[in-house]
Amino acid sequence: MKLSIVIPVYNEQQNMSILHKTLTAVLNKLPNQYEIIYVDDGSTDSTPKILTQIKASSKNTKVITFTRNFGQTPAFDAGFKEASGDIIITMDGDLQNDPRDIPLLLEKIKTFDVVSGWRYKRKDPFFTKKIPSLLSNYLVKLLSGVKIHDQGCSLKAYKKECIKDLELYGEMHRFIPLILQLKGYKIGEAKVSHHKRQFGKTKYNMKRLFKGFLDLAFIKFWFNFSNRPLHFFGTLGFGTMLLGIVIGIANIIFHLFVLKASALNVGPLMLLSVLLIILGIQFIVLGFLGEIMIRIYYKDKTPPYSIKK
Ligand code: UDP
Ligand code: MG
Repeated sequence: MKLSIVIPVYNEQQNMSILHKTLTAVLNKLPNQYEIIYVDDGSTDSTPKILTQIKASSKNTKVITFTRNFGQTPAFDAGFKEASGDIIITMDGDLQNDPRDIPLLLEKIKTFDVVSGWRYKRKDPFFTKKIPSLLSNYLVKLLSGVKIHDQGCSLKAYKKECIKDLELYGEMHRFIPLILQLKGYKIGEAKVSHHKRQFGKTKYNMKRLFKGFLDLAFIKFWFNFSNRPLHFFGTLGFGTMLLGIVIGIANIIFHLFVLKASALNVGPLMLLSVLLIILGIQFIVLGFLGEIMIRIYYKDKTPPYSIKK
């Protein structure tokens, strides 16, 4: 079985040569044929130059170069589309993942569709990395029931059929195991080693926790309603409208029969009722728009990035 190793890199000049050396040392010991695909995500340091040298000296290596920095998710996506292996392995290009874990992933993937690395002794800062990850993994478990300890570990192995219909947008690479499990694939875990970042800096900050939460909510929405948005917005709309009508009628009855008022005055409850009814109509119309949009979406899909080379 042929292996494809996909590695997104963004300004990792000091890591590239060491990574390539340790990776090829591991891969050469395996009986498998292999290819390494580096995706240069718009690096502005000497990473592109080093990658050109690596490519010139290694026939198994391909390099995809983005026109600018598009992010790790598009980089994975581009790498996946280029990969011709039966098993696709992804990892970070900053030496935090260890290529020596690859044989373990290959052993495990015999019984799963995807094997996700679990950095059980993670060497990252506690507050800015570990806590947000804990929270994010917990939310995934809560929302979807998917019990993976470490969604965010890049070191993963996939059978080629699972990534064939994987569509990645935004920063969704963090939730690939969740997406694949929701698609019905079997996900396994393997404890992998993790190293402190020695060279270069991390490309992410705490903002990703908030963004990650939005992504998670969207994934949940997408899987439940992507082919029927009208059901989501319609239910929401009818519920809101009904609440508005009930409040409105109750308010009228209260004025006419309890207070025995001669005229209806517009108080806060009446305003709320009108607001809810209008909101409800808006939601339903949004549902119609959603339906029109998914019909267009499913007809013509274009990737949200452009490739230079
Ligand atoms: N990366 C990338 N594009 C980006 C950000 C990161 O290709 O916009 C790469 C980066 O070079 C590294 C991997 O993704 O190989 C993981 O990034 P990083 O180490 O910054 O993430 P962390 O380990 O801090 O979560
Ligand atoms: Mg890192």
